[in-house]
Amino acid sequence: MPGLRLILGDQLSHNISVLKDLKADDVVLMAEVNEKDQSVNHHKKKIAFIYSSMRHFAGELNTKGVNVRYIKHDESKHYSGIVDVIRSCLDEKFFNEIVVTEPGEYWLLDAIKKLKKSSDIRLQILPDNRFISTQQEFNDWAKNRSKLVMEYWYREMRKKTGLLMEDSKPVGGQWNFDRENRKRLKPGQMIKPLRKFRPDDITLAVFQNVESNYSQNFGEIQPFWYAVTATQTHKALAHFIKYHLCAFGDYQDAMLTGEAFLFHSVISQYLNCGLLDPLETCFEVEKAYYRGEAPINAVEGFIRQIIGWREYIRGIYWLYMPEYKERNVLRASRSLPGFYWDGNTEMNCMSRVVKLTQKYAYSHHIQRLMITGNFANLAGIDVQQVCDWYLGVYADAFEWVELPNTLGMALYADGGTVGSKPYISTGNYIKRMSNYCDTCVYKPNERVGEKACPFTTLYWDYLIRHEVRFRKNQRMTIAYRNLDRISISEKKQIQGQAEKIFNSL
Ligand code: SF4
Repeated sequence: MPGLRLILGDQLSHNISVLKDLKADDVVLMAEVNEKDQSVNHHKKKIAFIYSSMRHFAGELNTKGVNVRYIKHDESKHYSGIVDVIRSCLDEKFFNEIVVTEPGEYWLLDAIKKLKKSSDIRLQILPDNRFISTQQEFNDWAKNRSKLVMEYWYREMRKKTGLLMEDSKPVGGQWNFDRENRKRLKPGQMIKPLRKFRPDDITLAVFQNVESNYSQNFGEIQPFWYAVTATQTHKALAHFIKYHLCAFGDYQDAMLTGEAFLFHSVISQYLNCGLLDPLETCFEVEKAYYRGEAPINAVEGFIRQIIGWREYIRGIYWLYMPEYKERNVLRASRSLPGFYWDGNTEMNCMSRVVKLTQKYAYSHHIQRLMITGNFANLAGIDVQQVCDWYLGVYADAFEWVELPNTLGMALYADGGTVGSKPYISTGNYIKRMSNYCDTCVYKPNERVGEKACPFTTLYWDYLIRHEVRFRKNQRMTIAYRNLDRISISEKKQIQGQAEKIFNSL
């Protein structure tokens, strides 16, 4: 009897474990599903990107002679979700086993294991071979450590892969060049556009489906220029290496009105759905350094994001799930403000970032961390609602990567597992790294009064609100020293002004 092999929308890699040792009569199952019991409002462009990439991938498998059972959305909407699709396949009694690569979501892995318990079919869950480390390696590294510091994990990954290593030493004499990567970008600098791809007939058919079935979802499909095949993603990567990598490091934290992508690669959605291999990507980028085409701070910064941060975040997710998802140490419970969906707010930075998210299903890491994340943390927005927002609106967001980045890094809701301090700032940081404040009605350096920047007011209010938790945190010493310089009467004014902001949300 044949086996049923499952490929999910974020598993579009030809060398993925589930496709190894494929037998001639095995059937590969792919389904365009929308989980009915989830409240996540996925961006239209994200859905279009995933469905189109899936259809192209299924076509490539067909060309290789693989039996693919592909269920398009029009057919799959009768199912309550992917587990329901699998169950109905198993009900046919045609398959003798089901083979899956570990999914990137805890609930799905759990549901598949439960499915197995209710059926006598054989189940094989194979490790996801597209990561550089195994979960066991991460768990072993984490064992007996009081603090899981990404930097040390990253160094392990450098040694394991040999990336930017000379004998056993880091190339350039240091492991991390992040301090060099915080330059402000001035308007007028020439930035080459990203490599863009014209939608083909397959993608155009997906657009119609998304427009009719997801008309109420967040975001815009057009303009759509994403790569949807592995071949195209390699072209996008080559374009980044040629035109953007050299300045990527210097300006990776910069934000500029009208420049959505700056020198960023915009390949995370390709990595996370399997169209680009992370390790191959890093080796391509490393070659540019050895060819003398990009400086060490750019190349190291890029590689760290992938073999360090990405692998670390995945390790954290699987180490602490399912309990991790429930964490909310700061008891954040305010409803997500409407401007996260429509960008209608006088806060220019917030409005700009939400609007570019609507348009591109993308914003870069500092916009996510220090604008939308910073505000959500400062304002005490409900953790689950913020996580659902990030999971829905970004094309590269899948739960394993979104949850620790949002709940842990952006919101500090995990109590310091991911970050040793909350990533919060006044408007002055945003002014330093962008030109958003130049045209804003608020003044970033004012903490009280009509023109006070909400980020600035809420920053000081946050320090007061969470003083018991953070005053003794060594990385917050300067922040509290500055708070101590503010008079008691001004602190009261700040708290009053913060209350008004909360009421207006
Ligand atoms: Fe954002 Fe404040 Fe700057 Fe306005 S003044 S753009 S709200 S940081």
